Amino acid sequence: RDMAIYLDNAATTPIVPSVLTVMKDVMDNVHGNPSSIHQAGRKAKTVIEDARKRIAHHLRASTSEVYFTSSATEANNTAIHCAVRDLGVKRIVSSPTEHPCVLNTLKSLKHYGEVEVVMLDVDPFGNVDLDQLDRILQKGPKTLVSLMHGNNEIGTMLPIHEVSELCQKHDSLFHTDAVQTIGKYDIDLSETKINFLSASGHKIYGPKGIGLLYVSNESLIQPYIHGGGQERQIRSGTENLYGIAGMAAAMDWLVEHRDQHHSHVANLRSHLITQSKNEKMDLIFQGNQSDAQLANIISIGLPRNDKTDLVMFNLDIQGICASTGSACSSGAEKGSHVMEAIGFPENRKALRISTSLQNTIEEIDVLVKTLVTMV
Ligand code: PLP
Repeated sequence: RDMAIYLDNAATTPIVPSVLTVMKDVMDNVHGNPSSIHQAGRKAKTVIEDARKRIAHHLRASTSEVYFTSSATEANNTAIHCAVRDLGVKRIVSSPTEHPCVLNTLKSLKHYGEVEVVMLDVDPFGNVDLDQLDRILQKGPKTLVSLMHGNNEIGTMLPIHEVSELCQKHDSLFHTDAVQTIGKYDIDLSETKINFLSASGHKIYGPKGIGLLYVSNESLIQPYIHGGGQERQIRSGTENLYGIAGMAAAMDWLVEHRDQHHSHVANLRSHLITQSKNEKMDLIFQGNQSDAQLANIISIGLPRNDKTDLVMFNLDIQGICASTGSACSSGAEKGSHVMEAIGFPENRKALRISTSLQNTIEEIDVLVKTLVTMV
């Protein structure tokens, strides 16, 4: 195991052993192209269809509604572009705290005059205003509501069932980025009507370079990536067999360990908060301090000084990997759009701690001790 104290699990998680076993087995034993009709091809195809079936089962969706992609970034691009191109969407309602792969897609569509984009107000905890959403949806053209289930920087969660009901009430479409929540929280698509949902393998203890897009059967979209017709024409390109098998194994593992995972990361969170109070550190915490919060993401506001200005660097030299905001873009330190949207105070420095089932109380203690020397 890596010697570092890894507290950046919202950026990416390590792969768990059961996933690795499945992936190795596929790499060793399944060589066919899933599109080939001979036995080697059929064997590869079976791996993919079995993975699709298990993921669909976890989401209470039908197998025909699950498409594998290269990433959640691709899944989000596909959902938003296809909703506009194929489903008559003329307006998108979203939030300034979305991931850049949603925000930049909206920016591009707006730039080319394809849609009107409306951004909801966000409160200091990162929640969107659902009354405002209700009012906006009351009139106007065919609308896609694109709101993430769990925010990757501050962990604020969206009440997806309520949003889904608002969308149905106003005949709008609903897209949600569930990258940070899938597997960790129960998403029942037979109860909550969602048109598009995206996820990624490497945030749920699976491999990088694999994602998925759920498209409800009634949302009839056309091919987005054109080619040989894989993924029922919607997303051509030879399938990432190992990634697909790994992502399904990761979902299986996370669903099986869901309760244990949740109580473990919630416990680490409360330990961190308690210890920082015991140490009388002057910290603030972003996001909801309630159930409407991802338990594994702890967004801290440190007092600004010479040491905290370089907090990531200073933690790194002590062997602690964390993040100042989102690590999903370039790695370069620039102001976070999420912090800007929630009105994060300028005299504070943001630090994101994101935990996993592998982290320990002792690691949190090392973090606290290290932070004490900086604030
Ligand atoms: N959406 C959210 C909320 C994320 O945290 C990330 C992280 O990278 C993405 C989308 C992009 O996922 P991927 O790395 O699979 O493109």
